Amino acid sequence: MKKNNFSGLKVSVVLCLVSVLVACHTNTRMQDNDKQVQSAHNNLNSTLWLQNSAEFKASALQTYNTAKNHLAASLADTGVSAALEQTSGFAGLPPAIILDVDETVLDNSPYQAQLIKNGKPFELQTWDSWVALRSAKAIPGAVELINEALRKGIRVIFLTNRECMQRTAAGGACPQKMDTLVNLRSVGINNVNIDDLMLKNEHVSWTSEKQSRRMTVAQKYRILMLFGDDLGDFLPHVKKDINHQQRAELVDKHKQRWGQTWYVFGNPTYGSWQRVLMGELKDHLDGYE
Ligand SMILES: [Mg+2]
Repeated sequence: MKKNNFSGLKVSVVLCLVSVLVACHTNTRMQDNDKQVQSAHNNLNSTLWLQNSAEFKASALQTYNTAKNHLAASLADTGVSAALEQTSGFAGLPPAIILDVDETVLDNSPYQAQLIKNGKPFELQTWDSWVALRSAKAIPGAVELINEALRKGIRVIFLTNRECMQRTAAGGACPQKMDTLVNLRSVGINNVNIDDLMLKNEHVSWTSEKQSRRMTVAQKYRILMLFGDDLGDFLPHVKKDINHQQRAELVDKHKQRWGQTWYVFGNPTYGSWQRVLMGELKDHLDGYE
């Protein structure tokens, strides 16, 4: 009887422990999901601003108009390169500008909006489905700047972290490249050469760190201007292992370049600016007592 009672107690304890472990595991998963969904919902104001504010449109036009007005002077000033990777021997090279694609030339806010509506976090699979639709609109002013550069004989090179991923056996290793080309043409950038699109993972060394691709471009062209919505579109090694104060210091260090050879666009919805903020996001808020 005693033994039976003891066995019963043991079974109860084990069952109790199992239920606690299951509850803990389920709880952690729920917290992870909650965090991701919360993060998607946190994009509400940012996405509303991108999609609805006259101010975003005006700021993008301001940036592209400024660049357009500097094109002729940049072409003439053969002693200047926009790329830190290009330090000498570039004066006689043909001119080029480098643009990021997402949130610089193409507006993917419908993808962000759909995530919010569905209460979903970013996932590579849903992002790739959006890329395959080829239906992003242009950021205001982008088409005009790019076509003006092409008219002036400047090579326009797109350096994007859209990632090469095989979808089907028949679709090749990088269907995203043709998707991006067709999308760019659909918004009115008609003379883009497919060879001037450089995607992430297209070559082994082409990681999300864009330095190696800028170095590749620098071998053939004098780089007049850089355009992007992420500090990594301008500077190497700023997307991780660096904090937000160090990133701000780099912006200051290169302050003469902004609006001259470097042109940045606001993107409150995602980017390495957010990735470098460790721990609780609200701990990074700078309030007052
Ligand atoms: Mg971008």
